[in-house]
Amino acid sequence: MPPAPGRTPPAMESVDFVVVGCGPAGATAAREAAAAGLETLVLEKDAVVGAKRVCAAGLRPGFCETFDLPRSLVHCDTPRLALFDDAGREHEVPFGPGHTTTREELDGTMGALARRAGAGIRTHALFRSVESAGGRAIVEYADTTAGVRRRVAARNVLLASGATAVAPPALQYARWTEGLMTTLQVRVYLAQAAAEIAYRTLELHYYRTAAGRQIVGWMFPKRDHLAVGLGVLGKMPGAELRAELTAFERRVRSRLYPSVEITSVKEEGHLLYGGWPRPALAHENVMIGGTAAGLVDATNGEGIFEAAMSGRIAAACVAEGRLDPVRAAARYARLLSARFTRRLSHRVKLMRFLERVPARYGVLFEQLASTPRFADVLQKEDWQRTMGDRVYLYGQALRFAARAFGW
Ligand SMILES: Cc1cc2nc3c(=O)[nH]c(=O)nc-3n(C[C@H](O)[C@H](O)[C@H](O)COP(=O)(O)OP(=O)(O)OC[C@H]3O[C@@H](n4cnc5c(N)ncnc54)[C@H](O)[C@@H]3O)c2cc1C
Repeated sequence: MPPAPGRTPPAMESVDFVVVGCGPAGATAAREAAAAGLETLVLEKDAVVGAKRVCAAGLRPGFCETFDLPRSLVHCDTPRLALFDDAGREHEVPFGPGHTTTREELDGTMGALARRAGAGIRTHALFRSVESAGGRAIVEYADTTAGVRRRVAARNVLLASGATAVAPPALQYARWTEGLMTTLQVRVYLAQAAAEIAYRTLELHYYRTAAGRQIVGWMFPKRDHLAVGLGVLGKMPGAELRAELTAFERRVRSRLYPSVEITSVKEEGHLLYGGWPRPALAHENVMIGGTAAGLVDATNGEGIFEAAMSGRIAAACVAEGRLDPVRAAARYARLLSARFTRRLSHRVKLMRFLERVPARYGVLFEQLASTPRFADVLQKEDWQRTMGDRVYLYGQALRFAARAFGW
């Protein structure tokens, strides 16, 4: 077992499974691997799991049930999804209901459940490198409390360190950082409640800046605040991004809390990934998961579900493949790709198609709002779609293309 907190670990410990990062991917992998009887150690760079995560923290319908998480995590149930097109028109799409939470609660709870299942979570542990040697993966990390480097050997390793992940050379490729988005969000705390509808709605806004940059903005309600933020592909100077967010928040305010006093505002920013799923998901006995594997829906930034599911698949493969860690990692890559690559690649293509002619957002959103089955089938994962769903989806895609091209 990993050494108890407070005890100095030996220069080279050995466990079954090392997980890097304690976000939804890492915590789920750790919880389920430990529950399956694997000695599991999570290396997390932060002092407190989840405390620094910047996120709108919208969850898809059924998330808590799927991952056996307490419903008390949920701040608001959101049966409305409101999509705002480039002209600022609102389209209401049937949805879920989805849910909102905060990442300090979600990641904190997931981490606590992983601990309860028997995983060791070592905070202040900054991952530096991993290499395979003699059938083991050797992970090196910096213990930032003690100021020393340490090493731990494992049969398998899952790298789940999010959007800022640096991949080992075998998984790295030239366009690794392509698709990174810069985001900025404010938590708006109000003296009184905003309009009631705000607490039942996830808002997503798609528009261009005056300089022609494509923005995705959001308003996600929480128990005690509203999360209002935006993201842009690539980099944008801080002052420009802040001015854009100020203007966006004003527009949200004019609809949802025009005459309510704002008691405080907390600003936070982070990178988000909105590019293609990564082509290589495992090498030898090392796997990558969650956002580090590029598993984010480029149309709306959803990545928590994909991350947690990648952690679950990793844990199952490592537990089943105890005797052959390389085969376990290869199986993980196959299963993960089969589950997500097609759908998420389609989302990137759709997003790029919409961005080229912003009026297309309105065309798509009108169709989604007026055709509930289209919205429903689009929200399903590939494996959930029946043959009838697929045929229907192709029909709707053709209808959308015809309308978008003005045929
Ligand atoms: C502004 C914003 C809004 C978002 N909104 C939503 C949303 O509403 N719904 C949704 O589903 N998704 C949303 N996402 C995406 C979502 O946050 C990610 O897809 C999800 O967090 C991915 O989980 P993960 O476990 O892969 O990585 P993360 O959640 O990023 O976790 C990575 C963990 O690894 C740790 N770490 C990083 N580097 C190291 C290192 N070198 N050593 C050790 N530990 C390390 C980090 O501290 C962190 O704890 C949003 C993202 C952003 C930026």
